[in-house]
Amino acid sequence: MSIWYVEKETPGYKLHWKVKKVLHERQTRYQRLQVLELEDYGRALILDNAIQITEKDEFIYNEMIAHVPLLTHPSPKRVLIIGGGDGGAAREVLKHKEVEEVHMVEIDGEVIDAVRKFFPENASAFDDPRFKLFIQDGLEFIKSKKQEYDVIIVDSSDPVGPAVQLFEYQFYSDCLKALKPDGILNVQSESPFYNKDVMKRVRDLLGSLFKYVNPYLACIPTYPSGLWSFTMASNAYHYSAADLSRAQGLNTRYFTKDLFHACFVLPGFINDFLNAV
Ligand code: SAM
Repeated sequence: MSIWYVEKETPGYKLHWKVKKVLHERQTRYQRLQVLELEDYGRALILDNAIQITEKDEFIYNEMIAHVPLLTHPSPKRVLIIGGGDGGAAREVLKHKEVEEVHMVEIDGEVIDAVRKFFPENASAFDDPRFKLFIQDGLEFIKSKKQEYDVIIVDSSDPVGPAVQLFEYQFYSDCLKALKPDGILNVQSESPFYNKDVMKRVRDLLGSLFKYVNPYLACIPTYPSGLWSFTMASNAYHYSAADLSRAQGLNTRYFTKDLFHACFVLPGFINDFLNAV
């Protein structure tokens, strides 16, 4: 008998993956944590019944959440990742030679333990001498920081459970305070198909705090609808002025220099709902 992992997005839309093996299942203090071996997508890390990463396509999300802000900033030395427990964003950030220090604040230490055990390629970032891990709520961590970071990446799970407030005004305003005056904030802002209200709200909230706010897209087959958004904000740097010569040495599979500009070109229906009053 075959086992299927089912993720329900709406009453009319479910995603099904055939499971080869259940590798790990736990209720942590914060969320339900599963690691499954899927037939087509390799290992999957799942939190509260939402796939966070699969081995097959995690490179797309993690390259896009990291390289776009790190290339927009002319000299990213200190980087903070909030969430990011799967290690993929840290791995990509550490590809930038200019980066001297990466802090990552992840609320759930059990996610880190599972990644060390089941996703060794991602976990390699955790042993880099430039990397420092804090097991703490990102909402609390950020409150005490003042003008410390060049880039902050919010690599959070969906706005449910411990991540709800990572999509709120107070948190973004704390991030602005924690950034150096010319810093860049980059957040994952959900699916333009299924979470357009979240994507618009994130853009509007960041627009009330930052001069430049630019949503951009990536195609990620694992996530519902396959189309995913990120929103980058800064008071100093617009992506169009980025010097992409540093992109040359990056070893990437999805991200390219040409894609850097292309990913900011939004389809009509997305512009329509973003600009609706
Ligand atoms: N790529 C993924 C996605 O879009 O679904 C998200 C990557 S990562 C696994 C998300 C992490 O955010 C989880 O490990 C979760 O524990 C962490 N997280 C959720 N809320 C948090 C909070 N308040 N502070 C710090 N980390 C948090």
